Amino acid sequence: MALFLQPFAAAVAFALPPRCPGCGVVVDADRRFCVRCWQTMDFLTGPGCITCGAPLAGPPGGQCAPCMAEPPVHDGVRAAVAYGPIARALVLKLKYGRKPGQAALIAEHLARRVAPGEAALLVPVPLHRWRLWGRGFNQAALIAGRIGAATGLPVAPELLRRVKRTPPLRGLGRAARARAVQGAFRAAPDARQRIGGRAVYLVDDVYTSGATANACAAVLKRAGAARVTVLCWARVVHDEGD
Ligand SMILES: [Zn+2]
Ligand SMILES: [Zn+2]
Repeated sequence: MALFLQPFAAAVAFALPPRCPGCGVVVDADRRFCVRCWQTMDFLTGPGCITCGAPLAGPPGGQCAPCMAEPPVHDGVRAAVAYGPIARALVLKLKYGRKPGQAALIAEHLARRVAPGEAALLVPVPLHRWRLWGRGFNQAALIAGRIGAATGLPVAPELLRRVKRTPPLRGLGRAARARAVQGAFRAAPDARQRIGGRAVYLVDDVYTSGATANACAAVLKRAGAARVTVLCWARVVHDEGD
């Protein structure tokens, strides 16, 4: 049945009007949110925390409480939106809805947060190979590839490896998250040459507590990365367990 319908479905897909990636209503152009979804999303544009970029209520130049308590290993986060229902819907479509086209939309937002021509590498947060086999693709690598195409920055998808399967970090406290990702990432044997002392943009879909990003940043810095800045679609802004 599915096989029989496939060519037909492909032909229809061309004729279908573009739809809002958040809620599915028809919109005028590809990769555009409808007005309602657009207004619901909290785009992160301000400078925020001087260390990690988290939105801050106070005057500019301040630091958020988690950074004051324990500065991150990475050198800041550039996220397009605060994690919320619409941002989440897009991530779920990308990851589980087999809609890798959503990566183009995410990359469009993130390419603006990168200086073109900068001597930096784009490195996606890797999936464990079992998860990669299950899903068929790494969403972070798809996003990184698209950012690379838009900015001209080189992408190094095999530079970092996830050598340990990690449990879902949701619900774990800060220390437990850090423990869970300990030893989970390793740099490729030739990582030092490939990084060549350059800055790295670590690409992911969602930034939650920073445990994963810190574990990756530590490995990349040991391999000579001058700086590791996280580039992600959405960041959890009010995570009490953070
Ligand atoms: Zn919408
Ligand atoms: Zn901070």
